[in-house]
Parts: sequence; C-alpha cells; structure tokens
Amino acid sequence: MVINYFGYRDDPRLQAPSYPSHCLHFLRQLGRGSSPEPTPASAWNPLDIHIVGAGIAGLAAAISLARQNHSVTIHEQAHALPDDDTGIQLPPNAARLLLKMGLGSYLEKYVTEQENVFLRRWKDGNVIGRTKFGYDFRQKFDAPYWVIHRAHFHQAMQDMAGDLGVVIEMDSKVVSYNTEAPNLTLANGTVVKADLIIAADGVNSSARKLVPKALESTPHITGFASYRAEINMERMKEDPELAELLEKSSLNLWLGDNRHVQTYKIDSGKTFIMVMCYPDNDAGMEYGEVDPTSALLHMREEFKDWDPVLTKIINMVEHTQKWPMYSGSRLKRWVSGKFLVLGDAAHTMLPYMSQGPAIAVEDAVALAHSLGRITAKSQISLALSVFEKVRVERANQMQEASLLNGKIWHFPDGPLQKARDLAMMPEVKGQPFSHSPNQWSDPSTQMWCYGYNTEREIDLEWSRYRV
Ligand SMILES: Cc1cc2nc3c(=O)[nH]c(=O)nc-3n(C[C@H](O)[C@H](O)[C@H](O)COP(=O)(O)OP(=O)(O)OC[C@H]3O[C@@H](n4cnc5c(N)ncnc54)[C@H](O)[C@@H]3O)c2cc1C
Repeated sequence: MVINYFGYRDDPRLQAPSYPSHCLHFLRQLGRGSSPEPTPASAWNPLDIHIVGAGIAGLAAAISLARQNHSVTIHEQAHALPDDDTGIQLPPNAARLLLKMGLGSYLEKYVTEQENVFLRRWKDGNVIGRTKFGYDFRQKFDAPYWVIHRAHFHQAMQDMAGDLGVVIEMDSKVVSYNTEAPNLTLANGTVVKADLIIAADGVNSSARKLVPKALESTPHITGFASYRAEINMERMKEDPELAELLEKSSLNLWLGDNRHVQTYKIDSGKTFIMVMCYPDNDAGMEYGEVDPTSALLHMREEFKDWDPVLTKIINMVEHTQKWPMYSGSRLKRWVSGKFLVLGDAAHTMLPYMSQGPAIAVEDAVALAHSLGRITAKSQISLALSVFEKVRVERANQMQEASLLNGKIWHFPDGPLQKARDLAMMPEVKGQPFSHSPNQWSDPSTQMWCYGYNTEREIDLEWSRYRV
C-alpha cells in the first residue's frame, strides 16, 4: 500500500496526478482510520544504525527508523538533553509528519496551535500583514501550525524513541568516523561498527567535513544575531495595554530597518517568548560569551525607539543571551559511503521561515522512507543517493527562502517598505489576493512550504531507477 502525496491510499482506478492538485483529496475520507498511520511493515532486514546527536534531527531520525524496525542507537555528547529558554515552531509540513509518526499523544500536552501571524510596523505596531492559520489553513495542509518549548519537544521525542526501543547513550561523544566501514570512535576509545552512520551533530558539526566538497560550504556568521528571552505572562497580564497581544495564540512580528522582533506564547499560554534580531557588530562573540548585564542593556538600546507597547515588554525582560545567527552551508552532497549528515549539520539556516526543525523532521522521514524501499543491504547506497538528491534541493531552497525573508522584512522606511506594505494590504483587510510579500501568506510559497510531501518526492525519485 502506498500513501501518496495527499495522504490517501493509492487506488489503481484513481492514481494521484503528477501535478500538484488536490482534486482527489476527498479520497482521504474513505481510508481515514485513527491517526497516526500504522507502523510501516517490518524492514526486510533490520539495519544496525548509529546516530550522532540527540537534537531534533537525531531524535526524529531515530523514531522514523525504529518504526521500520531498524535497531537504532544515538550517541549524544551532552550529559542531559537541553533545557534552554526558547520556543520553536512546528509548521504544518512538520506537524503533519509528527502526527503520522505517532507523536501526537506525546506532544498534545505541550503544543499550542497558532491562529495568526501578524506582521507589524516597527514604529507603532500597526498591522501591515496577516496570515490566518484557522480552519481553512488547517484543512488545506492537513495539520495545525504549532509552537512548543524546545525542551518539551526534545522530551516528547525522547519518550517516544525510548518506547520504540531506541538506545540513547548520553555522555557519548564521537571523535572520529570511518565512512566506508562504516564505524565511529567514541571519546573513550571504543570503536562502534554499524550498517549506517547518521551524523545529526548540529550547526557546529565536526562530521560535515567528511562529505565531498563540504569545506567549501561551512556555515558562516550572517552579520545578524538575536536576543532571546522568556517572560512570565502573569506580569504582562497586569498591564491592559498588553492585553491585545495576549488574547489570541498568535505570532507577532515587528519589522524595521535591519531588525525584527518575533513573539509568541508557549506552555498553554503561560510563557511569552521573544526573539529580537539585530545587526551584529560584535560578530565572533558566541552564545554565553556576552556578559548578561551588557546583553540586557544592548538589547534595550537596539529597540529603544520602537513601538511603545513592544518596548514596554522588552523592558520587562530580566535575562537574555545573544545568539549569533549562522547560515550558508549549501552543501551539494550529504552522503559519503555509508555515512550521511542531516539536520543543521547539513543545512544550517536562518530562522526567518521558522523551518529549521521542520526541515530536520522532513529529512528524518525522507531517509526512513527511502531506506524502506530497499530489499538488500547492497541497495543502501542507492537509497542514500535518492535521499540526498531530494533533500539537498529542498533544504537549499528553504535556506534561500529564509535569506529572502530577512531581506523583505528588513527594509528601512522608504519606497521598498511602502510598496511591500501596500502589497500586503489585501490580506490585512481580508480581501482576496494571489500573491504577497509575506511568504507565510503568499499562496505559491505556502503550498511549496507547508504542502510539501517528502515521501512522495522520494517515491518519484525512486521511480527513475530500475531496481
Ligand atoms: C538553542 C537553540 C534555539 C533555536 N531556536 C530556533 C528557533 O527559534 N527557530 C528555528 O527555526 N530554529 C531554531 N533553532 C534551530 C533548530 O532547533 C534546528 O534547526 C533544529 O532543531 C535541527 O537541529 P539539529 O538536531 O540538527 O541540531 P541540534 O539541535 O544542534 O543537535 C545536535 C546535537 O548533536 C550533539 N553533538 C554534537 N557533536 C557531537 C559529537 N561529536 N558526539 C555526540 N553528540 C554530538 C549536540 O550536543 C546536540 O545535542 C535553535 C537551535 C538552538 C540550538
């Protein structure tokens, strides 16, 4: 049985069209049982797979592969999973896959569905763009737009991985690899053999250099950094001026010259998250290297003339830290022998499309799906090259979309900013529109971003090979 692009089971009388149409979407109702999708059929012969890094990419890959009955071990250098004070977004292209993987019951107590994105003018907070994530959006992309605390997402995935029998070895740093054998060496000198090694070791990946031509594409500092902060909502509720922002579960973005501020609520509305992006004249100072008091003062200074409602919230922040922002690892190859990189190790991107975690989840599902098509160990290389072909293009395009969003958001006041804001007027007024500079709303970008089906793309690529 094949689950096709639109999520219904292929019927020989009504094959899914090769073009992106939803005309057969109604067939979903016929085969719809209880979500999630059942665990895929047993892998022909379980592989022994070792993953480096228990971040979102590593855990998502472990779950996807364990669901196909492969034996999976994760090596994580840290002593414990992260407990940093930040939220992340899980747009429908990720949420749909997570639900299908069976993570719904692990996530339900943690996620908050978003109702809108409001783009606001930096100076006064006036709404200049709006994307509605309501019923229509959910219907169209068959999943909600979620936000979640980063630590909760890790916890949910760790719980499910554990239930599927994935072994997670903490304090287990990998120091070297043999990509052909393949094997890896731990800091304690132990050499571990595997059928396949997946390096999901994040933005500062040491494994990345092992894929061909990687050194030409190391991630670079973008010249931007962000201050991140959490605010207790009880304090904010005391101020009636802030009520509008707290009423709904919405993402709010204030856009200004070379800067933007993004806010949303997580933890069932208990915690208010802020990400404040600004041009970084102090490039080279990494996370944790900036003195917290200087960071706080600098953060306030950067946004001091902005919307008074926003500055009121910024002044409530008691603790912040600088996060330098990286982008640019447009790798052409992710695979070397029986070794591959995925997640941020393969495609670090600016968070301006909020797609870093989502693309990591897509990578994981795509890899498991491609490996699920093989019937002998000798075909692992073919499965990896199909995976690489599909995912490199998708990730590179998302990096490009994120960079472009930064440019569209950061116009100084002037002709470009005016033209942009005018072009978003119809979506603010609730009038019909066919295009928008707001990439969350623009119909073509929406379909490409949130309607993308990585399993279908893998199937299409496989169909080009005779096996
Ligand atoms: C604190 C933080 C906040 C973020 N906030 C946002 C956001 O707001 N919006 C957004 O879009 N994206 C955000 N991102 C990026 C997003 O989380 C990532 O794009 C996504 O989670 C994919 O990450 P990953 O699993 O590839 O890497 P990571 O989450 O970085 O995980 C890599 C893991 O590998 C481990 N590791 C590294 N080297 C070794 C080794 N040699 N041996 C063993 N283990 C190793 C690390 O300890 C780490 O646990 C954030 C990232 C971080 C770190």
